[in-house]
Amino acid sequence: MTSPYLQGCVRQAEAAGARGITLALDLRLAAQPGQFVMLWLPRMDEKPFSLADGDPVTLTIVSAGPCTARLQHLRVGDPVYLRGPLGHGFSLAAERPLLVAGGAGAAPLAFLTRRLREAGRPVTVALGARTADDLLLAERLAGLGARVLVSTDDGTAGTHGLVTELAARLLASNAHDHVYACGPAPMLDGVAALCHEYGVPGEVSREAHMRCGTGICGSCDRGDGLLVCRDGPVFPL
Ligand SMILES: Cc1cc2nc3c(=O)[nH]c(=O)nc-3n(C[C@H](O)[C@H](O)[C@H](O)COP(=O)(O)OP(=O)(O)OC[C@H]3O[C@@H](n4cnc5c(N)ncnc54)[C@H](O)[C@@H]3O)c2cc1C
Repeated sequence: MTSPYLQGCVRQAEAAGARGITLALDLRLAAQPGQFVMLWLPRMDEKPFSLADGDPVTLTIVSAGPCTARLQHLRVGDPVYLRGPLGHGFSLAAERPLLVAGGAGAAPLAFLTRRLREAGRPVTVALGARTADDLLLAERLAGLGARVLVSTDDGTAGTHGLVTELAARLLASNAHDHVYACGPAPMLDGVAALCHEYGVPGEVSREAHMRCGTGICGSCDRGDGLLVCRDGPVFPL
């Protein structure tokens, strides 16, 4: 039987904020922004991570528990095993998109930024984090040609407050026709409320505990008949 795992190795590893790492691998995937991979750590576990890019495969991983802590120690040349791309990604429907990122949610939005910029769209990113140390991929997003506006919960970088407050100000200016968001569930609920208030369509990438990543085990059942891995992780609002 052919293995579902792709084997590659780390080509580049650099710090992402104070608790994260961005890994570029020697692999390419024909993937949509918003799709994810299951990264396997032999003798430990397998965990889902969004593609921060597909060519080369790039992942930004923030330390949250045992696996993500161990992944911080990967170095150039280390082997990596993954399955994917999995799930459904973002549409590229927007003419004047606003991207709203919270914490590690910046990863799939970096890939989306690249694709939207290649399609000639002006991209604005509201990039939020708890503190300046937790901000991810600001330089990468700016380097891709996005207008990046930062907010932190404690005011240590950018504007002081929640990223949804920043997004509300941007939507009030009427400059955006579509919202894409990825981040913690309360932030996504806030974005959904804003899209409703301003009458702007949106798509959000949701997280859930996953085991198989392919719709078999049911771990990521949302309770409404939809599985985050199979039917998402990107859902229209
Ligand atoms: C589709 C998808 C894409 C993701 N993309 C990224 C990414 O690009 N970068 C990144 O850093 N992380 C991402 N994650 C989250 C990442 O998978 C978890 O942080 C990781 O599985 C934690 O594993 P761990 O063993 O280190 O910690 P664990 O001990 O498994 O978890 C640590 C803490 O985080 C919580 N947690 C773990 N997984 C999830 C989850 N899926 N949803 C909500 N809470 C969770 C646990 O309840 C626990 O409190 C993504 C998750 C999904 C489902």
